[in-house]
Amino acid sequence: MKARTLAESFRFAFEGVRQALRTERNLRIHTAAAAAVLALAFWLRVPAPGVALLVLAIGLVMTAELFNTALEAAVDLSSPAYHPLAAVAKNVAAAAVLTAAAVSVAVGYIVFRDYLPPATAAAVGAGLALTPRALPGGHRTRRVTDVTNDGTEQKIDIDVEQLLEEARAVRERAYVPYSRFKVGAALLTKSGCVFAGCNFENASLGATICAERAAAGAAISAGQREWVALAVVADYPEPVPPCGICRQVLAEFAPDMPVVMANLAGERRTMTVRELLPGVFSLPGGGDG
Ligand SMILES: [Zn+2]
Repeated sequence: MKARTLAESFRFAFEGVRQALRTERNLRIHTAAAAAVLALAFWLRVPAPGVALLVLAIGLVMTAELFNTALEAAVDLSSPAYHPLAAVAKNVAAAAVLTAAAVSVAVGYIVFRDYLPPATAAAVGAGLALTPRALPGGHRTRRVTDVTNDGTEQKIDIDVEQLLEEARAVRERAYVPYSRFKVGAALLTKSGCVFAGCNFENASLGATICAERAAAGAAISAGQREWVALAVVADYPEPVPPCGICRQVLAEFAPDMPVVMANLAGERRTMTVRELLPGVFSLPGGGDG
């Protein structure tokens, strides 16, 4: 009876490895990178204790990645819609992978520094830790061109996922007793601050303020008028577009800013404010920074 249970346990575990390898690109990349690092270690005739450390580091990252995959599946099952606690669980699990990856970089560097130039040894260590999700920024960061007030262009890194996450989180605070239509917006400013806003309605319906303008008001009130990107999230059949009033307000400060529109189904579309509002109304004296 006990033996059968043990055999079953192994079978389920191998099935888990197979599933993870099939569905997780990160794990496949890591497996390939780990094999390359071990081949390099054999080629350089690294002594057994060094190889053992490399194997441990590889095992650490893979174990962390597998736990992270399992936890993501469990969280998605228990909380299909966005929930702040679900975000905490996923972020902490991702942090565990990052920690394991950092340890791997250190191990790789220490093992290979006697055989390779320091920079190359560190690079090999990074290969050991190679999981795109674990690398800071990773695939989430997107470079966009921002046009400053004096007309010069500047490249800025935007963590779109993080911005969307902020928009989803603040959306939960929307005050919408009449329409039940919650919207969240997160505005990234040049200083790197994110100003979040949700929509709030009023018994006098015309007094309703949209999420985009709530976020814009928060940024302006903090003295931050240089905007880099805006994320808007709502439960909508398509990536939710800002209303006309909000487009006009955004155009006053950041006509070339990308607006990342998203819905809870995970669909998204990015357009600049100018694309959203051609023929913007303006008066002389605006945009004085
Ligand atoms: Zn609006």
